[in-house]
Amino acid sequence: MPPLLELRDCRLTYPSERKGQPDRLALAIDSLVIHSGDRIALLGKSGTGKSTLLRELRRRLPAQASWCPQQAALVPQLKAFHNIYAGALDRHPGFVNLKNLLLPSPRFKTEITALAQPLGIADLLWTKANELSGGQQQRVAIARALYQHKPLLLADEPVSALDKLQGQELLSLLLDRHQTAVVALHDAQQALQVCNRVIGLKDRRIAFDSAAGEVTEDTLQRLYL
Ligand code: ADP
Ligand code: MG
Repeated sequence: MPPLLELRDCRLTYPSERKGQPDRLALAIDSLVIHSGDRIALLGKSGTGKSTLLRELRRRLPAQASWCPQQAALVPQLKAFHNIYAGALDRHPGFVNLKNLLLPSPRFKTEITALAQPLGIADLLWTKANELSGGQQQRVAIARALYQHKPLLLADEPVSALDKLQGQELLSLLLDRHQTAVVALHDAQQALQVCNRVIGLKDRRIAFDSAAGEVTEDTLQRLYL
């Protein structure tokens, strides 16, 4: 089967803050191949390019990717239900979306309640996003990603505001419902438990790209030095 995505000699940059100066390099990738079925954890210190890489993957595979951004990025004035429904906006015509905003349809209520139950937010669906705790908002963002119904999950530290056990559980749920996943994580042990491949980013490059079973304590320590 052909890979889902292949990047070769790819430089991800941002414009310089100073006029006339060259773009600033965020991440240089010699080679990165992603196959369907991969469960990839992106690890690395803050500022090493994890979010930049996820945004690039999303840019290249927009139709296939469920997106779970680093900050939950909910619409604060909208209820959790409508924030989750936002994951399906592109599946329905505008008038259906507008009607559901004013008078939520029983079908969408049933679907979203079923999705919310295992995430522990079923009783929060009619609460505004700005009245939820950080952890609750993150669970709403996970539900919104699941409601996108896409085969590839791109998630940026999706469980960072949850405690370890809860995070592990929801991360597994999120991964189990996607064929392929690329997830930035700050907890390396968590990454090794749920992913089958680990990409370590350091000094604006890919420092290693290994099967999860081959990642040693020493490799991880060097990544965070
Ligand atoms: P991580 O997600 O690993 O913390 P990022 O991808 O956010 O890393 O950042 C990688 C590098 O790119 C950093 O040096 C950061 O300052 C820079 N960067 C990230 N986002 C932007 C942006 N929107 N504009 C300019 N520079 C950015
Ligand atoms: Mg980031």
